[in-house]
Amino acid sequence: MPELPEVETVARSIKKEFLNCKILRVRVTDCRLREPVAVDYPSQIAGGVLQDVSRRGKYLLMRLRHAAASEVLFHLGMSGRMLLTTEFHPHERVRIEFDRGCLVFIDPRRFGFTRAGAHLADSLTLGPDALDISRAQLKAILTGKREIKEVLMMQNRIAGIGNIYASEILFVAGIHPLTPADAVTGQAVYRLQQAIYHVLREAIRLKGSSIADFYYGKAQQGGYQNRFKVYDREGASCITCGTKIIKIRQCGRSTWFCPQCQVR
Ligand SMILES: [Zn+2]
Repeated sequence: MPELPEVETVARSIKKEFLNCKILRVRVTDCRLREPVAVDYPSQIAGGVLQDVSRRGKYLLMRLRHAAASEVLFHLGMSGRMLLTTEFHPHERVRIEFDRGCLVFIDPRRFGFTRAGAHLADSLTLGPDALDISRAQLKAILTGKREIKEVLMMQNRIAGIGNIYASEILFVAGIHPLTPADAVTGQAVYRLQQAIYHVLREAIRLKGSSIADFYYGKAQQGGYQNRFKVYDREGASCITCGTKIIKIRQCGRSTWFCPQCQVR
């Protein structure tokens, strides 16, 4: 599932490829996404010129000028990807044809969506972005008895972190994933903030995990999956202490951690 580093990689790639390019045509191949694509979506953005591409949490935001809608918002959901291709893809949902090439939104599992309009970012109920959350802001969201791993994944408290990076961040911070949020205090808050920053920065530098979510026809690999310290490493040795990594279930999702390095 695309998280902050993957969406950031996609945003940068689209910006590099299509900045100042004009949208000639828009085709909604299949509107049945988590939120159906509006009937007037193509006419809202056709004729627009791409002014900027940015990211808010796990959302991708394209700013346009000379179009009826000033913004286009994408959420990649569980399996959404952006392709630069002129070829048809069996899971393609929306095709935006720029004067320099086509941007194709594919989403096999349909948990993503796209929307055109104005002030779309303001309508999102997101906490501070994980990449630049301050220590005071972080401290403020660490309230209540919910487990810390769950809190890190609550987008209205801190935006951008999902299941992969939550496990990785807690390992780097040396915090047990079942710790109640309000028990993360003092030095642990500082370690957590540093871990969030360093893990996400490193993942962005390596263009995210598994396969990149923006590619040219054929898949281009992101590099962070080779750096996983605990994620998907059940039974393997901890890189720090050699103890076997454990996998547990939390809120219906898997969590990986080292029982020696991450104490409650
Ligand atoms: Zn360890």
